[in-house]
Amino acid sequence: MQPSSHAQSEPGEPVSADVLDALEQERREEERHCPGACNFLTRKNGRGVFVLGEPILCERCMTTLRNELLAIDTLAGMLAAQDDGHRTSTGSDAAIRAHRSGTGRRSPSSVVDTISELESVLRGHMRLKRPVAHKLGLLARPVTELADWLASNLPRYRDDREALIPLYEDVRRWHSRLVKMAKAGTALISKPLPCPRCRERGLVQERGSDVVKCTSPTCGKMMSARDYDDLAAEAAEAAAAGAEPTPVRKRGAKAPVAEAS
Ligand SMILES: [Zn+2]
Ligand SMILES: [Zn+2]
Repeated sequence: MQPSSHAQSEPGEPVSADVLDALEQERREEERHCPGACNFLTRKNGRGVFVLGEPILCERCMTTLRNELLAIDTLAGMLAAQDDGHRTSTGSDAAIRAHRSGTGRRSPSSVVDTISELESVLRGHMRLKRPVAHKLGLLARPVTELADWLASNLPRYRDDREALIPLYEDVRRWHSRLVKMAKAGTALISKPLPCPRCRERGLVQERGSDVVKCTSPTCGKMMSARDYDDLAAEAAEAAAAGAEPTPVRKRGAKAPVAEAS
């Protein structure tokens, strides 16, 4: 009897105890790996060293979860503010119109719908650990309260695989969804250069504001629009220099973009 030849056994075929033991051991080994984004490449490539969970998610992924929960609140607030600027009717009126139109186009009410969907997702996670919180999340700013409660009660989820992993996955999904929506809104201008601190492409400028900020939750870098323009000019210059092997322009010469504004 060679257990390894039975690893891919036909359904219905009896499986030996050895194979079950081996599979069980493999499953236990996998359970020690952090299921978060830190192991994404290792999982994808099928090689490398897995980051271990502490006990489920690693410390870094727990921090990401916490930061993104707090960022979700800010992003939902930004979306709601954008939405207010776009419509004159009440949220429920807009929601009714959206149901009637049924075209799937982005309408003002999509923000209202999105935020109430987010609320029920967060509330579902909260209920696992706080089943009797009748009042929480039913007041003026439900997302704020729910995200706040979840962020400060993460230790309750930390050791509970069934509760923690769905929470982590939902928060990651919702965070990136809200970032995309917030950038797509007219009140925010997405800047093309990567953030000088975290190198992610998450810089945005609110229309009419002189501040450019990084939306990456672990970074949050802020700079003046003027500083950003200087960076953009340097980047343009570097790109031009890279394109021509023998640059004729004098070093230190400013590109015209820097002089604008
Ligand atoms: Zn991790
Ligand atoms: Zn950044």
